[in-house]
Amino acid sequence: MKASATHRKYRATKNISGHILVILLLAMLNFSGHAQNNTSARQLIDQRLSQEQSRLLELYKHLHTHPELSFQEEKTSARVAEALRSAGYEVTTGVGRYGVVGVLPNKSGPTVLIRTDMDALPVKEQTGLPYASTVTARDPQGNEVPVMHACGHDMNMTCVLGAASVLAQMKDQWHGTLIVIGQPAEERGGGARAMLADGLFTRFPRPDFCLALHDDAELPTGAIGYTLGYALANVDSVDITIHGVGGHGAYPHKTKDPVVLAAQIVLALQTIVSREVAPGEPAVVTVGSIHGGSKHNIIPDEVRLQLTVRSYTDEVRQQTIEAIKRIVRGQALAAGIPEDHLPEVKLEDDFTAATYNDPELSEKLAGVFKRLFGDSNVIKKKPTMGGEDFGEYGRTEAKIPIFMFFVGGVDPEVLKNSQRTGKPLPSLHSPLWAPLPEPTIKTGVTAMSAAVLDLIGQGTKP
Ligand code: ZN
Repeated sequence: MKASATHRKYRATKNISGHILVILLLAMLNFSGHAQNNTSARQLIDQRLSQEQSRLLELYKHLHTHPELSFQEEKTSARVAEALRSAGYEVTTGVGRYGVVGVLPNKSGPTVLIRTDMDALPVKEQTGLPYASTVTARDPQGNEVPVMHACGHDMNMTCVLGAASVLAQMKDQWHGTLIVIGQPAEERGGGARAMLADGLFTRFPRPDFCLALHDDAELPTGAIGYTLGYALANVDSVDITIHGVGGHGAYPHKTKDPVVLAAQIVLALQTIVSREVAPGEPAVVTVGSIHGGSKHNIIPDEVRLQLTVRSYTDEVRQQTIEAIKRIVRGQALAAGIPEDHLPEVKLEDDFTAATYNDPELSEKLAGVFKRLFGDSNVIKKKPTMGGEDFGEYGRTEAKIPIFMFFVGGVDPEVLKNSQRTGKPLPSLHSPLWAPLPEPTIKTGVTAMSAAVLDLIGQGTKP
């Protein structure tokens, strides 16, 4: 079958003009040259990485054992700064509190920024690993809490620092400027905004592209996941305080019952997504917490609700928030609550913007990954309504194209077992989640290094 197809192609070629033939030949030469570049780049990355592997594994275990909460990343950021300095980067610390910026200029060419997050979560580790965390810390409310890298930001740091070092050693392969940043407080939101507000794009060279990676608790090691366009959602936290007029549970007619009103509000809020937002436009309104009252026979004065509200577009975000305000007010008025006693709706400031992966950049780099790891190991993932503040880097006036990809971290044997038995795997943020270190580091460093080389390997400005 292959032979006859070639024969047909040959006969067709004979009939087309000389010009087209030349173009075709040039295209073929260019293609094979490109393939060769990829192979040699891969070999060069592999060589550097094999020398770094044991040091990176040690770094990963160190970071895993010593997690720090959002905006408390004092020791972690010092470690990141030290790794970048020893790789030859000009390092600035304290950018947006604990943010670290490493710059590596290398003649003229495009500027690429790669970002890692650095913070951990208030979770008590239960992995049983020899390097498990036993750390505790004070949360912003002053409570003593256990701390764990349950989202794998220790892995993200290791891969990004590994790529930073590999690329610094391969300076003869690229022209441009490489910026590597350690970002605080991804989990709470606010870390990316803090770094941008502290002059990330003005005090340092402004990037032409921003890249990030995140470990993935669903994909096996050796696999890469990616999403085109919207990948992660806008996240808003909303607090609602419903005021009533309390009294005896036996005399409801002498009260304004905030418990019944809260129940009506919770149900009415569900009509926003089902009746107001256009079908096909993703949105979520979840009431995650409801608190009020103290005893069977007392009608309380107040009920408090806490919501998480999610969307992709700014329009749907605005529409959803306005609808929440309108419904809360309307339900309270219908219940006979006086104008000066209406519920308060408060938006918390830790808003996280949606992550929009530039489709052209994402498609291009997914192609690089496919050539490196094979088509079956590069998996297009559905977008989720999870949150991540990496999107902020693409939302400034400069509208810089950004791309975040996912690095599989699950032991392939464990994944197979889970598929066979139906027993779910631990997700990100679970006390049981930890990626399988060595193969995850290898894939993450290789993918990030190759992505950067693809963008600045030629040294031409976009
Ligand atoms: Zn994370």
